[in-house]
Formats: sequence, C-alpha cells, structure tokens
Amino acid sequence: MTTIQEQVSRYGYVTEKVSEHIDLIAEINRLKIEKNAVILAHYYVDGAIQDLADYIGDSLGLSQQAAATEAEMIVFCGVHFMGETAKILSPNKKVVIPDMNAGCSLADSAPADKFAAFKAQHPDHIVISYINCSAEIKALTDIVCTSSNALQIVESLPKDQKIIFAPDANLGRYVAQKTGRDMVLWDGACIVHIDISREKLAQLRVEHPDALLIAHPECKEDILLQSDFVSSTTGLLKFVKASNHQKFIVATEAGILHKMKESVPGKKLIPAPGSDNNTCACSECPYMKMNTLEKVYNALRYEQPEIHVPEDIRLKAYGSLERMLELSKGI
Ligand code: SF4
Repeated sequence: MTTIQEQVSRYGYVTEKVSEHIDLIAEINRLKIEKNAVILAHYYVDGAIQDLADYIGDSLGLSQQAAATEAEMIVFCGVHFMGETAKILSPNKKVVIPDMNAGCSLADSAPADKFAAFKAQHPDHIVISYINCSAEIKALTDIVCTSSNALQIVESLPKDQKIIFAPDANLGRYVAQKTGRDMVLWDGACIVHIDISREKLAQLRVEHPDALLIAHPECKEDILLQSDFVSSTTGLLKFVKASNHQKFIVATEAGILHKMKESVPGKKLIPAPGSDNNTCACSECPYMKMNTLEKVYNALRYEQPEIHVPEDIRLKAYGSLERMLELSKGI
C-alpha cells in the first residue's frame, strides 16, 4: 500500500482509485467549498473540467485571477508552468495541479543554464519572455508577456530598445514583424501549433471557401501569413463572437472549440488539422489532456501534487510577472 506522497513522487499524481459510485462533479463542488478552493482552468483542458471551473481563460486572464483570488487553495487545471505562475503570484496559497507530468514543449525548450548563457551574450538587451516558461526563466526575465499583451508590452518600450524574446520563436517573429522592433529570438516552439498541417489546411480551405481562417501566433509563419485574423485564444474567441461570418477554421489547440461552440452555437467551427502523427483529426495538446476529472478530484481531496517554487527564484520571477500585470491593466 503506497502513501499519497509516494504515489505523487512515483507517478506525478495521486493514483488512488475513485469509486465509480461517486458523483465526481458533485464531490468536486463539495470539496471546493469545504476547502475554500478555487478551480482555474485553461481553455485547452477537457470541456468537462472547463464546465466545473470557477474561471476559464487564457494565460493572462488566469494569472490575473491567480493574483486576485481570496481562496486558500488554487487547483490549477492546465500545465505545470501555469501552476508555478499561480504560486509565484500567490505564495501564501496552496497551489495544486492534477498531474505533475503535464509539462509544455515551449517551457522545456528553454533550460535555465542555456538561457542564462544566451542572455549573457546580449548584455544590452531587455528580456521579454512569453509566460509559457519555467519559474527559473521568469526569474531571468525583465517582463513576462502572454499572446494577449505581447504587442502592447513590446510597444511600451523605447523604439531603440534591443530585445531578447523567449521562448517561442513563432510568436517572437510575429511580434517583431508587427512592431518593427529589433528582437533576438530564442528558438523554442509549441509542438501543437507547429504541427498544424499546411497541406491539410489548404485542402480544408478548398472544401470551405466561405470560412475565415483564424490562428494563434504560436503557429508557423506560413499559417499566419494566410490567416484572416491572428490573436491570442481569448482574442480568437472574441473575434468569433463579434464577427458577422458564420464559418471559421480555428488554428489553435482544439480545446478552445468547447467555449467557442457554447458562445456561438449557430456558427460552424472547424478545428485546423494536425499532421498524421496526431491521434485526432484536430490539434490537441497531450499535456493539457493529462487533466482528468478523477485527477482534479484527487488533487482537491488530498491537496497533492503541490507546486513549490524556491523563494529566491519566486521573488525574481514575481518582478517580471508584476511588470506584465501592471502593463496589462485594462486588457
Ligand atoms: S499547447 Fe503548446 S504551448 Fe500550450 S501547453 Fe501545450 S505544448 Fe505548451
């Protein structure tokens, strides 16, 4: 018989079997009240989890919520760096995530030691890092950004300010082109967005000539260049709601379609296809899909796996996140 702590150390999550007679959603809601917990969920997790969350959003909205919540515990349904971000912003709260294995290819693409050496090669550059990075990278960063505020944050700097942008090269290239700024890019990528297949997308556009193509800036340049609209996940959602168009091909992680369908039930939404290596016909993040209702229940019940961030790293990372939140007021 393994203890909860042993289960988490060995498997990355609480493996206790949940009785099939339990009404998981009712129990999660009961535990949430009992423990004064709040459930934050990213748009990319399963719809069933989005439906029970207290707040659903993209990285910017979730950070703002994590910083503002009065709850004693945050259950963060997303990926590891998001749980870390919540802990950095709310150090006195307990932050748990359903599965410690829920990582992110972008965060993994920037190991702190290599990034520190890269930064040292560009001493006159300011470091702007996309929020999809580890706490250590945030600690080496001057200002964090998300895809919702990257343009505004870069534009808030003097025009001649040299910038390192990390870790997403596609988002960085997009921001550099839009703002005309001098930016050195770290060469990281999101495995989901770069997997969107140009050939299959071209076929889909032939089949649906009346659909608008809308894309997240983590997609490759060739996808962005042919898109009718490029924005963050929240920006895409707002666009679909406000547009008079009735049909959209959505080039981002397919989880956003859950909220989009709920918001615009009469409109036709088609997920952009991933390559043949993908198990689904759309683009799904394997890390986000590690969040299950059962793991959410166990995380809430056993208050594990818990996120910890060393205080020296947290304090430095807090500064770069705080600057982002300050510059994002009103977004
Ligand atoms: S969708 Fe991409 S950027 Fe987002 S968590 Fe998954 S791998 Fe990371």
